[in-house]
Amino acid sequence: MTRWAVLKFGGASVAAPENWRTIARLIAERRADGLAPFVVHSALAGVSDLLEALPDAALKGEHEPVVDRLRQRHADFSAAAGLDAPALLAAHFERIERVAAGIALTGEASPRLRAALLAEGELMANALGAAKLAALGVTAEAFDSREALRALPGAAGETEYLSAACDEGANAALQAALTAKLDAGAGAILAPGFIAHATNGDTVLLGRGGSDTSAAYFAAILQAEVLEIWTDVPGMFSADPRLTPAARLLKRLSYDEAREIATMGAKVLHPRCIGPAQRAGVPVMVRDTFRPELEGTRIEARPGDDAPRVKAVSLKTGVRLVSLETAGMWRQVGFLADAFAAFKRNGVSIDLVSTSETNVTVSLDPDPSLDAARLDRLQADLSKIAQVTLVENAAAVSLVGYGVRRILHELAPAFEAFQDRPVLLVSQAANDLNFTVVVGAEDGRTLAARLHERMIRPVPDDPVFGPAWGDIASPAADRPAPAPWWREKREALLKLAPQDAPLYVYDLATVRARANALAALKAPARRWYAMKANSHPDVLRAIHAQGFGVECVSPGEIEHAMRSIPGLTPDEILFTPNFAPRGEYEAAFGTGVHVTVDGLHPLAEWPEVFKGRDIILRLNPDRPRGHHAHVRTAGPKAKFGIPLDQAGEAARLAQAAGARVTGLHAHAGSGVMEAGHWQAVGEILAQAAKAHFPQARILNPGGGLGAPDGPDAPALDLAAVDAGLMALKAAHPGFELWLEPGRYLVAEAGVLLARVTQIKTTGGARFIGVTAGMNSLIRPALYGARHEMVNLTRLGEPATGLFSIVGPVCESADLLGAGRLMPEPAQGDVIAILNAGAYGAVMASRYNLREPAGEAAI
Ligand code: ADP
Ligand code: ASP
Ligand code: MG
Repeated sequence: MTRWAVLKFGGASVAAPENWRTIARLIAERRADGLAPFVVHSALAGVSDLLEALPDAALKGEHEPVVDRLRQRHADFSAAAGLDAPALLAAHFERIERVAAGIALTGEASPRLRAALLAEGELMANALGAAKLAALGVTAEAFDSREALRALPGAAGETEYLSAACDEGANAALQAALTAKLDAGAGAILAPGFIAHATNGDTVLLGRGGSDTSAAYFAAILQAEVLEIWTDVPGMFSADPRLTPAARLLKRLSYDEAREIATMGAKVLHPRCIGPAQRAGVPVMVRDTFRPELEGTRIEARPGDDAPRVKAVSLKTGVRLVSLETAGMWRQVGFLADAFAAFKRNGVSIDLVSTSETNVTVSLDPDPSLDAARLDRLQADLSKIAQVTLVENAAAVSLVGYGVRRILHELAPAFEAFQDRPVLLVSQAANDLNFTVVVGAEDGRTLAARLHERMIRPVPDDPVFGPAWGDIASPAADRPAPAPWWREKREALLKLAPQDAPLYVYDLATVRARANALAALKAPARRWYAMKANSHPDVLRAIHAQGFGVECVSPGEIEHAMRSIPGLTPDEILFTPNFAPRGEYEAAFGTGVHVTVDGLHPLAEWPEVFKGRDIILRLNPDRPRGHHAHVRTAGPKAKFGIPLDQAGEAARLAQAAGARVTGLHAHAGSGVMEAGHWQAVGEILAQAAKAHFPQARILNPGGGLGAPDGPDAPALDLAAVDAGLMALKAAHPGFELWLEPGRYLVAEAGVLLARVTQIKTTGGARFIGVTAGMNSLIRPALYGARHEMVNLTRLGEPATGLFSIVGPVCESADLLGAGRLMPEPAQGDVIAILNAGAYGAVMASRYNLREPAGEAAI
């Protein structure tokens, strides 16, 4: 029996002429493995979009320019591929022009004609592809898929022209006929995706993106050994790689997981393509035509891992919601039956449902044939039983993975992201594989990216999560300009790296550049460097020289700042402790620094300490922000600040103590990327000042300015931050604004250098041991923070392996990075752990009685 391999190449794959070399090579490789290659392909990228737009253009008599663009598109490809497009495609363009002219003339564009037009895209690619393969020495037998794929009639027995499903039963006759073609000398079968025939002989489509499904049908019909989906990304990822570079390759998935991810919006696979493969037991591989050396995703019956956890975040846009307000009618028997009957009568299919006491909201399945008229009829029908609201263009964000219900508690912090956003619908699938939240169109991408950041947590040797898209697409070392400082100073860094110990290196030029950028903000009257982020004396001096004061959280920091910065005056020190003992306040007032008080206890219990003093009060703005629970410092559960509803009491206690409250402070967390944040916090402080603190003239909305995690990561828009603060000043002219950034000034300026000590390969994982451990850099273990890493010794060498980078500390949490794509290392190589300038050395410990990394500034 012939052993078939079905390979499907998508629009981007076939549109690049050089990819046909890869296709030819893959055909040869499969043949060498004893497999018979059945190649399914899409139209050239962009062509289906043009063909889809053509009928509407024709209705306005404006089809000629669209046809011209189609011609140009194919001519460009042919020129680059060395083919003669006009000769190969003449008959196709004749048909396209005829149908378009007919639509223009009759003023009617039926689904039947639309399908016939769209089919030409794949048919043209088939002609070009066969010619290109022939030129490359592969005789490919062009096969019209419509001969084999038979569409099943739709719901009411009608022909589904735009989104048909097909018969997928094994077909021995077809297998024999195609085998005969290979025996007669063909190197492969080449078949257009997307199209099938209806019982009446008409051409029908399998839905946009449906070439995947064509390939799956052929895999089932031919009882293939494997279905390979070749596209423009190296597999299915934990999120659309276009959404976030942190998206992780999913190495192995079950059919059910893959279907769920696709159904919830991941365009990489057509949702209908998993079913036929699953029922026929054909494993599915998702691979990258542009990076054929990568292994991609394997989808089969068994999951890579079925422990409850989120494996992917999918985003579906353009979601349509129908909301039924049923006030008073809820207990009416048969309400839901009546409502759903109306959907059925109008042939409208429902996707998600959520119900509350007075409201039923459903989302609709995407359906290209659902036009305005049918929607109007549905709405009219439903209006008889409820008040109907239609929401167009919502966004559905789904978390997909086994047992999502068992980890709902872990979702809680992720939902802080939703706190000030309207949620339109929440739905939890009965199969326990997805949890979906529908929000407004403008919120979808942000929410998906945030949920991804918080919920996707690879572990060492992860059976499911592979490398991050950012590492595959442009390994940190190979990213384009502007070249990061550590790249320019690579030689110096290699010389500095000690043999047997790790070392932090800070680039003072980068620190100064960051300080300069903040010094350029117009709104703040004073800027304070939160020195807890990095207290290296050279760093302190560099920042002070740019006009910053120093924010200290302990007497030790005050002393260190005074020692490190010559000429530092008490007026340039802001003391902001948390739960400090009485003696620390007394000592601070003794030295004349600014003092912030962040609880009622000191004022109530030690009023004499504050008598005659100026103080700043730290309030809790009830607006938690930040990249991880451990770095969020506001909200009802935070230990920081005075809750807003105790502000009046604080004012009374301060007055009774004889203290003057000259300013208000709040700090809501670190790593904040929303430019409007400081304005919003400042506004809360201004309101509190007006209500309770007539003497306050300083508003300090804190720090937490997010520093980008890497060159491609989103950066905080400083101009927008300044604009927000200017607006705040304009609204409250009586106040001066302070800002107290820490990490923003130093994170990027620091690298941690460590040498490779050992390399270990276990059953499933490869470890690079380095001289730095969690006692030098605890952020990965403490916050799950991701630090980019490069092998500085081998900068520019191809990244070929996937490694976990570990230190010498006896803790399994001593993992600096998991699943990193890097060049093959050797003992003694210098690994640079990037963005380590903030909260690195300052949090180091002597755990295991190992000395942490030293520090040097350049
Ligand atoms: P093709 O033309 O090869 O069928 P598609 O454009 O239909 O390719 O699908 C590939 C695209 O799917 C990728 O470029 C990627 O942006 C998108 N995509 C969306 N979600 C995911 C995901 N979870 N994993 C991988 N790719 C995804
Ligand atoms: N060419 C079709 C489309 O763009 C089918 C496919 O590519 O899968 O929708
Ligand atoms: Mg596709």
